Amino acid sequence: MRASDHVWFDGRIVEREQASPSVASNCLHLGIAVFDGMMAYRNGDRWNVHRETEHLERFVAGASRMDLDARWSVEQLSRGAHDLLATLPPRTHYLRPIAYRCAPEVLFDTDNATPSVCMFAIEAARDLDTPLSCQLSPVQRVSHRAIPVTWKVSGAYANSCHAETEARRAGFDTGLLLDDRGLVAETSTSNVFFVRHGRLLTPRLTGDIFPGITRQVVIEQALRDGIAVEERDIDPSHLEAFNAAFLCGTLSEIRPLSCVGPHAYASAADPTVRGVIDRFRALTHA
Ligand code: PMP
Repeated sequence: MRASDHVWFDGRIVEREQASPSVASNCLHLGIAVFDGMMAYRNGDRWNVHRETEHLERFVAGASRMDLDARWSVEQLSRGAHDLLATLPPRTHYLRPIAYRCAPEVLFDTDNATPSVCMFAIEAARDLDTPLSCQLSPVQRVSHRAIPVTWKVSGAYANSCHAETEARRAGFDTGLLLDDRGLVAETSTSNVFFVRHGRLLTPRLTGDIFPGITRQVVIEQALRDGIAVEERDIDPSHLEAFNAAFLCGTLSEIRPLSCVGPHAYASAADPTVRGVIDRFRALTHA
């Protein structure tokens, strides 16, 4: 997935590499950066930046908690996103804001280095329909006691990358991580839902479950349509009792799972999963 040639960088549209940090920046050495991701759906002749304010508020809050306080407000970032979109072909894009320090300060001493914010785009042509195979990951979800999951700190995503690599090596598309109590948490960048007898089940929001915006949208839409949703602890031993499963997240949207390890699910044909996908597409393409 290739980033756009132009980016929004500290208030201006510039060529992408003008936003490059120093090779000695702590964003590279320590993963000290905070990011978010949001979809700009192109519908007819306009953009629908899905849940834009929530994404940008989450980004600004995480950056501030990580001492990468952005000089930019949510309103300014929103204007930046639309300035960036104006440079792009009229197709659906994934937008990635990220806060980091460019200065050659390898360690934690950041007093002299003002954080920067860059926002770039990736054209979002992707397969959303083929079900993904999923293994029960041997990699444990990094605990929120080690680093709060809601801040979206770049360095913490080495955990996600490790889980994805292990899954691919084992012949699966992705991996489902357990938390430090051995309960189902989520995949590397998506929340997970299961279906049983037409009801939706998803891990309840402990500190180790990322409170995804897509997860919230799925719950709101299901409840509006009279579909029961249960947020609860899910033990791996429960997996065999489920009829279907899907991932949800900004980039993956709603993606059926064909299995979790040895448990096969006919998720793509499941009417409850189909309903979730159709409702989500109707919302984002409105
Ligand atoms: N879990 C993790 C670990 C994530 O990084 C993401 C993506 N931000 C999600 C779940 C899904 O969150 P959202 O729906 O807000 O994209």
